[in-house]
Order: sequence, then structure tokens, then C-alpha cells
Amino acid sequence: MTQTAPDCIFCRIINKEVPATIIAETDDIIVIKDIAPKAPIHWLIIPKKHIRDLQSLREADRALACNMLFMAQQLSQQLPSPGHFRIISNNGAEAGQHVFHIHLHFLSGARLEF
Ligand code: 5GP
Ligand code: ZN
Repeated sequence: MTQTAPDCIFCRIINKEVPATIIAETDDIIVIKDIAPKAPIHWLIIPKKHIRDLQSLREADRALACNMLFMAQQLSQQLPSPGHFRIISNNGAEAGQHVFHIHLHFLSGARLEF
């Protein structure tokens, strides 16, 4: 059973209560377009299980965390420049996390340099 949080925007998207453009979906992960893209391609890799952040991952979530990375690898194959992308995970408000449901930002299509 997937654990959800009622007031979480990503859980509401996962439950199809709020619309989003879905790029990919598996049993445990959904990938959507970011509503305010910071690059020509800006997708969010989101586990269906409500987990607050990276620090909250448990041993039981090991496979799920791994699946998120392999989803990035799979997504990278459908890019105009396959294999050229950036992954970001903001953890904690001071690091820019706004939605407290763990997710990876998947960015591509621009010169992304720090
Ligand atoms: P964070 O700042 O937590 O790392 O990233 C949250 C991301 O979720 C932001 O890039 C923001 O644009 C995106 N976002 C917030 N609300 C929604 C929404 O309702 N739909 C979609 N597709 N993206 C959202
Ligand atoms: Zn959630």
C-alpha cells in the first residue's frame, strides 16, 4: 500500500486529484513536468510513497531510492542529447526545499553550470 499525506501536493498529483503532465509512471515512481521549469527540460522524479526528504529514507526504502536513480538513467535515453542531464535534490528549507515529499529534479536542454 502506498503511503500518502493528505496536504501534500505531490501526493495529490500521485492520487490524480491534481493534474500534472506525466512523463513516466511505474508501480513506485511518477515523473512529472515541473510547473515552473528552470531549464528546457525540467522533470521531477517522485516516489509514490510519501517520504519527507533524503534524511528520512529508511533501510526499507533502499530499493525505492535506487529505482529513482535508474529512472533518471531511463529518462536520459529519451533526451535530444541522451545522457546529458543534471540531478538535484534540495533537502531542508535552508537548501531550497519547498515541497516536503522527496524528489529528484531532472534538468536538461541548457548549459547547466554552477
Ligand atoms: P523543491 O523546491 O521542493 O526542491 O522543488 C519543488 C518543485 O516542485 C519546484 O520546482 C516547483 O516548481 C514544483 N512544483 C510545486 N508545485 C507543483 C505543482 O503543483 N505541479 C508541478 N508539476 N510542479 C510543482
Ligand atoms: Zn507526499
